[in-house]
Amino acid sequence: MQGQLGLEGIPGKLVRVTPARLSTWQQCPRKYRMTYLDRPTPPRAGARANATLGAVVHNALKAYFDLRVDQRSPERASALVREHWKSDGFSGPEQAAEYRARAQEWVGGYVAELPEGEAPLAVERWVSAPVGSIIAEGRVDRIDERHGELVVVDYKTGRYGLQVGDARDSLALGLYALAVGKQFHRTCRRVELHHLPTGTVASWEHTEESLAELRVRAEQLAAEFQSATDELELGGDPQALFPVRTGKHCSWCDFRAHCAEGEQAAPDLPSWSALEA
Ligand code: SF4
Repeated sequence: MQGQLGLEGIPGKLVRVTPARLSTWQQCPRKYRMTYLDRPTPPRAGARANATLGAVVHNALKAYFDLRVDQRSPERASALVREHWKSDGFSGPEQAAEYRARAQEWVGGYVAELPEGEAPLAVERWVSAPVGSIIAEGRVDRIDERHGELVVVDYKTGRYGLQVGDARDSLALGLYALAVGKQFHRTCRRVELHHLPTGTVASWEHTEESLAELRVRAEQLAAEFQSATDELELGGDPQALFPVRTGKHCSWCDFRAHCAEGEQAAPDLPSWSALEA
């Protein structure tokens, strides 16, 4: 935490904010507490196939861009999926092999469509920069440089294609754009979701105003979870400060085994259930 003067001249705190913290808080404050505050952290549920698939694709693309330009090809990208493959969370070898083949096809097809001669400015780069009353930070999948400006690229491997609104309204992408712009001292307004399974891109060009709106939203959420955290440290009631927010998401919560309300709210689904509709 770093000190700064708040708006009224009262010393405040710069709260460290990652997209994961924001989305976890928004989804369920109790889950936030178990993820970030309870120590030791309660044992988590096992790996989920959709998360494994996403991690493999991200790792393969990172390895691809780590190669010299003359070593890159769709065939190499596809082979990198195989080299980075993990089967954690899949129903068995057959399903894992089916998805490995799909992922190889996605990644090979994706790099084949990349503009020739264009190299990313950074891949899997941790960014961290003070923005308003928070420190916006996180690992950006890719930062491209186009027409003198920086572009935030986020890979997606979920079941459904993405719309422009998904890029426009994404607090995570907005936070990354703010941090990237600040850290690199460059203009960064374009944010893109690259959906590997369909090879489509959902893209949005922010304005200073729209980024400011997302920053204010992030600041509000950060103030909420920091206030609850501070009160907890002073001996506040964890159940009241971090209430449950149940819903369908409880089926996939890492901590449902430690949460009676969540177990009642949604069925326990197999670890590969999020792969298919
Ligand atoms: S199971 Fe549901 S209610 Fe319980 S902590 Fe997880 S998300 Fe929150």
